[in-house]
Amino acid sequence: MALVAAVTCSSCVVRTEVRPDSGSQSGGLVPEDLPPGVRYVGPGAEATTYLRGDVGRIVVEVDQAEGAEVSAEALDHFQTVLGSVADKPVEIETSTISAGGSAFSAEDLRGLENEHRDTVTDGDTASMYVLSLNGTLSDRQGIIGVAYGGSSFALFLEQNRGLDSAAVERAVLVHEAGHLLALVNVGYESPRDREDPDHANHSSNADSVMHWAVESVSILDALGGGPPDDFDDDDRADLADIASGAIVPEF
Ligand SMILES: [Zn+2]
Repeated sequence: MALVAAVTCSSCVVRTEVRPDSGSQSGGLVPEDLPPGVRYVGPGAEATTYLRGDVGRIVVEVDQAEGAEVSAEALDHFQTVLGSVADKPVEIETSTISAGGSAFSAEDLRGLENEHRDTVTDGDTASMYVLSLNGTLSDRQGIIGVAYGGSSFALFLEQNRGLDSAAVERAVLVHEAGHLLALVNVGYESPRDREDPDHANHSSNADSVMHWAVESVSILDALGGGPPDDFDDDDRADLADIASGAIVPEF
């Protein structure tokens, strides 16, 4: 049975289905010292599935706790942006789940996903899973979004205090999906010099949705004028390279 280990970057927490000891942390999404034969299943691991032409459509399953519903406006924006970079139709299915509690560990997120997720990647369809919960990540308060698996991310929208909620929803949905699509430099090295040296796997461009502050309450300090809610040209160039096979993320 695979064990799990937590990997913490400056603003993300993910769990990968990895190794018995979780000694070192790379500062990025991918552990630096995966032992031979252990498969990485964290954010980015399914990027090629979403981006290449092997599947014809993406279904995004959004399971939301009562009171943590994502706005229709934000979901529309997300559908448009994801569809444009994946170059395929995106369908969004929302449902309400029972998810009590106010602090969730990455293990809790996996448990809720196991209990409630109805869609899987199969045949012509790639599945992406979104959990929207009340409360907070237990070990990283102030995080609005977290990518915790190869095809899964979670939102804690009530951690946003003060900014326009629909704007934050739009930004965080696209940001976390960006991590699932391997941004930035998750398993590859971009030919464009654009990774924030201080925040692994994030863009140095404050106008990119992949800027680190997008998923944190520090958004309030760092992003006056509202968060970016779309990929920038460099993000899109990386995604196009992954789609074409010019870049192949490796884990
Ligand atoms: Zn991030």
